[in-house]
Amino acid sequence: MSLTTRPCPICSSTEAQPCLDNPMAAVGGFDMSYKVVRCSHCGFHYAQELPDADTFSAYYQSVSKYDAPDSVAPVDRARIDATVRFLEGRVGKSERIADLGCGYGALLGGLQAAGWQHLEGLDPAPNAAQCALKMFGVRNIHRGLMSEAHTVLDLQSVDLVCIMCVLEHLPQLRQDMAKLVSRLRPGCKILLEVPAIECFLHPDCEPFGEFSLEHIQFFDMASLANLMQSLGAKQLALELLDLPMVASGSMLGLFEWSGSIPQEPTFQRSETGALQAYIEESQRQLDRALQRVPAGPVIVYGAGSHTARLLAHLEKIPGCEVRGIVDSNPNLEGKRMGRWTVRAPSSIHETPDTAVLVSSFRSQQAIAAHLRKTAPNPLVLLYH
Ligand SMILES: [Zn+2]
Repeated sequence: MSLTTRPCPICSSTEAQPCLDNPMAAVGGFDMSYKVVRCSHCGFHYAQELPDADTFSAYYQSVSKYDAPDSVAPVDRARIDATVRFLEGRVGKSERIADLGCGYGALLGGLQAAGWQHLEGLDPAPNAAQCALKMFGVRNIHRGLMSEAHTVLDLQSVDLVCIMCVLEHLPQLRQDMAKLVSRLRPGCKILLEVPAIECFLHPDCEPFGEFSLEHIQFFDMASLANLMQSLGAKQLALELLDLPMVASGSMLGLFEWSGSIPQEPTFQRSETGALQAYIEESQRQLDRALQRVPAGPVIVYGAGSHTARLLAHLEKIPGCEVRGIVDSNPNLEGKRMGRWTVRAPSSIHETPDTAVLVSSFRSQQAIAAHLRKTAPNPLVLLYH
């Protein structure tokens, strides 16, 4: 696997200052560790020393789950309601809307319920169309990647494209977006949602949780405006969306494609204070959590991204010895994580004296309550 050092995905400058090392244990054999840097020119924060684009697509194929959800999670319901409100009065009900990366059609379902009629979607999941019809009564979902949108949809006839929670994942952000806008008709609107740095720092935020395995660029309002302006799209509206139920938030931006990419774009400089404050608070919380880890053997309960990050730090604690990793999700059983293979939780009964370290931020209390009832092992909790 080769590591790529990429130029700033917004202004293409190759000068950047380091902000944070984000080491992770390899998941399923994929080491997705990266460094967060800040562009010296426009101030954009993005991940550097990444796996190459091929490794990313192999990783996404290996982790993607095609199990359809039974219902829309409350946080997604809140995002969809906010998006519908954001578009009311800004996009006419007769306009043609295409949602690229539409998943099971939850947003399209929300738009349909609010009175928009000309809707279509695109998603790589093989059963997206079937689920969208069953869950939301939404039709016209096609199978494909965003990069193939022009071969699957008639993009020239579309009045609004929605690209929700996609930009933060793209290893080739600038190239992919430039290609996409060049296929749109001038005047077409573009709706974007991305996680917002302005909302990272929260009284109840998971330490470094915003630097997930899959998020490789970090937007604030200035940097999203910079990206779109440099691609020749005019800003129509830009709003923060607080999501208290996940102690985080995102931003919604509506832009209009001018028809040409400017030769010499200008950039407003992003501030560094909000991200810096989030990194410092995360470090304080993580240090406190690591102080609760005993010197001695532990079994780690949980095989999610919280554990991928934690394992990288546990290696450095003197005397701490990870004996194994367990998870209640049968899909994860047998997966490699660091140098361990994930096992079923029942395996902890083989060693009732070994402490179980609960590795989850959001579900810590629920997991601990369950373990207290079902297993004699002593528990280690990382958070208050
Ligand atoms: Zn830059």
